[in-house]
Amino acid sequence: MFRTIKLKLPYDTSLLETGMQFREACQMVLDYGFSEHVFNKNKLNRATYKSIRREIPALPSALVQTARDAASESLKQTKLETRIHRKSMTIRYDRRTFKFYPDSHTISLTTVNGRLVFPVAHSPLIEEYRGEYTNAQLYIDKKHRKMSVMVQVEMPDRDAEKKSHKEIKGIGIDRGIKNIAVLSNNMFFNARELRSVKGRYRHNRSELQHVGTRSAHRKLKELSGRERRFVQNTNHIIWKQIVNLPYNVIALEMLETTKMSNKKNGRRFNGMLGSWSPFQLEQFIEYKAEYAGKTVIYVNPRYTSQRCSSCGYINKNNRKGSTFHCLNCNFELNADLNAARNIGILGKSEYFRLLSTSQS
Ligand SMILES: [Zn+2]
Repeated sequence: MFRTIKLKLPYDTSLLETGMQFREACQMVLDYGFSEHVFNKNKLNRATYKSIRREIPALPSALVQTARDAASESLKQTKLETRIHRKSMTIRYDRRTFKFYPDSHTISLTTVNGRLVFPVAHSPLIEEYRGEYTNAQLYIDKKHRKMSVMVQVEMPDRDAEKKSHKEIKGIGIDRGIKNIAVLSNNMFFNARELRSVKGRYRHNRSELQHVGTRSAHRKLKELSGRERRFVQNTNHIIWKQIVNLPYNVIALEMLETTKMSNKKNGRRFNGMLGSWSPFQLEQFIEYKAEYAGKTVIYVNPRYTSQRCSSCGYINKNNRKGSTFHCLNCNFELNADLNAARNIGILGKSEYFRLLSTSQS
């Protein structure tokens, strides 16, 4: 059974250039086929391949071949009766030239600048149509600066599995400093109280350090123990609430690989809260979730703050401070909440992948 998933892509100049060169290659084959009255693929290939490679050297060979196939089919359709001027820049991709990654909602495509990875918009069809991704077509709308890709999926029959997918309820959690956690179901856990308590401890600590007597030293030790217990207790309260919510898949960002190593975020996380660390939360939630029979999934945080959780459009400028405003569909939401929803969507995807690989 074949199905098609249509996905939006960010507008990209490498893809645009590839589309223009693909069209040019197509046109060379169309012109030759029309004037020589040939539509047979092999004949067209023998006659045009070398000159296309010479005249459009940046267009990868595999794309020259799919351009020739597309031209051959057009020639056959028109029975060589009319001269064709190709206007569209639609690019044909096959197994050699694209790879779709449904769990991270990204696609890698061959372009005139090499193989590049692009984020695609979220779509429920990504979950629904899982299988082998056999080919794809990239559509370019230069006038409206829009790009989309149609991915063909060859699916095994999985009615039984699909039913169980409906029972899965996932939740996404965005973690940070201003908000300890923001949940995709609109729950916020902010850090205001934690911050003020920590600030008070820091103040007392510096005063005691100044005194420097033995009793001050003892007091200092006592204080740091109390502070640690306070943080731990806050964590417990938060995660107990989260784990008790009626969701069976809990998605978090994988912080160690990207967000934390990022300079800007490193500062964001390390600065205000001293010893407070989002990592500590992970251990709690993993343990508690496991105990409650729930699954914790880690997702790649790339694009989670740039992507619109409503239409899937990705743009750096979608985010302005604490507000997310989609430049494509005008959707507006608290930026952390938008990220949490993206994390939830990706977490569910990843969960289904794990499910299908364990079943096959
Ligand atoms: Zn949008």
